[in-house]
Amino acid sequence: MKKLNRKTFIKGIALATVGLPIAIRSCSSQNFAQTNQGPNIITNKKFEWKMVTTWPPGFPVLGESCTILADLVEKMSAGRLKIKVFGGGELVPALEAFEAVQSGAADMGSGAAYYWAGKAPATQFFASVPFGMNAQQINAWVMTGGGQELWDELYGQFNLVPLLAGNSGVQMGGWFNREINTIEDFKGLKMRMPGLGGKVLERAGGAPVLLAGGEIYTGLERGIIDATEWIGPYHDYKMGFHEIAKYYYSPGWHETGTILEMFINKDRFEALPNDLQAIVRTAAAYINSWMLSEFETKNSIYLKKLIEEENVDIRKFPEVVLQPLREYTTEILDDLSNKDAFSKKVYASYDKFRKQIGDWSDLTEKEYYNNILS
Ligand code: CA
Repeated sequence: MKKLNRKTFIKGIALATVGLPIAIRSCSSQNFAQTNQGPNIITNKKFEWKMVTTWPPGFPVLGESCTILADLVEKMSAGRLKIKVFGGGELVPALEAFEAVQSGAADMGSGAAYYWAGKAPATQFFASVPFGMNAQQINAWVMTGGGQELWDELYGQFNLVPLLAGNSGVQMGGWFNREINTIEDFKGLKMRMPGLGGKVLERAGGAPVLLAGGEIYTGLERGIIDATEWIGPYHDYKMGFHEIAKYYYSPGWHETGTILEMFINKDRFEALPNDLQAIVRTAAAYINSWMLSEFETKNSIYLKKLIEEENVDIRKFPEVVLQPLREYTTEILDDLSNKDAFSKKVYASYDKFRKQIGDWSDLTEKEYYNNILS
C-alpha cells in the first residue's frame, strides 16, 4: 500500500466530506481483495454447502457460532447460500474436518488451527502459542498486520481459504489438586495439556496427557491425571471440574487468546459470485467478534458462580512459576522454527508484531488494567 505522508493524509480527511478518505478506501479494498476472484455477476443460482465442525453437536459458544453463521449467511443472501452444519462425528470424525474440506467432501469447516499441527506445524501460530498474543493483539496481527497473508499462503497449500471466526480470550490455567508455588511443583504432574503447552509442561518435568473432552472428568476423578486445563469458567463449570479439583489457577499461559477458525474449500469459494463471497467473509467477521463477546460475558457470569456458589479456591501462578515456563516456551518455539521453514517465516512475523504491539499495549492496555480498572 502507498505510504501516506502527513500532507496526503490531511488531504484525504478533507475528501471525507464527499466520500471515504483515501486511506480508508485503500485499506478496505485490500481486506476484501480476494472477493474479486468469483464471477462478477449477480445470479439467482442457489448454493448448498455442508459445514463440518470439530465440536460436539450444539457445543456451547463454539458449535453455536457455526449455526449463527449459517443463519446469517442464509438471511443476507436471501436464501441463495444455505449452509448445513454438522457436529463432529455426524458427517466425518471431528479431527478429519480439515481433510474433508480439502478434498471437497464438505465445503466448509470450523475448528482451531493447532489441531492440524501434524499436517503443517506452522498452523499453531494461527490458533495459539504459549505466552502468545491476546485476542485484541492477534486480531490486529491477522487482520491488518500481515498474518492473514501468511495464513492464506499456508492453507492455500491445502486448497483452503482460512477465516478468523472467533477467539476464546485468555483462558484459565487449569484445575489442580496441589498448590503450584514453584516450578518444582510441576515435577511428575500428569496434566491434560495438548499442543505446545504440553511440550512446555514436559520441559518443566510434568507429564502431558492427551485426553478428549469427554474423558477428562473421569480421568481426573480416577487419578489417571492430576490436573487439567480446559477453557474458562463457563465451559469448565459445565464440565463439573469444581467437584473434583481443589484449586482453579489463572492465567492460561498456554492459551492467551486462541483463534477459532473457519476454512473453506478454495474451489467452492471461488465458484461463488462476488456478493456471496463478501457475505461469507462478513458473516465470519461478525462471528469473530460475537464469540469473544460471548466468552467474556459467560465467563464473567460463571466465575461469579464458581466463587460464590461453589466456593472454588482461585489462585494465580506466581512469577517464579511463569518465568521458567516463558523461557521453555522460547526454546520450544525456536526449535519449531529451526525444524520447519514455514514456521520460521510465520514466527518471524508473529514475534516482530508481538514486540511492536507490546510496546504500545504497555503504555495503554497494561496501564488501563493496572491503574484504571477498579
Ligand atoms: Ca484450553
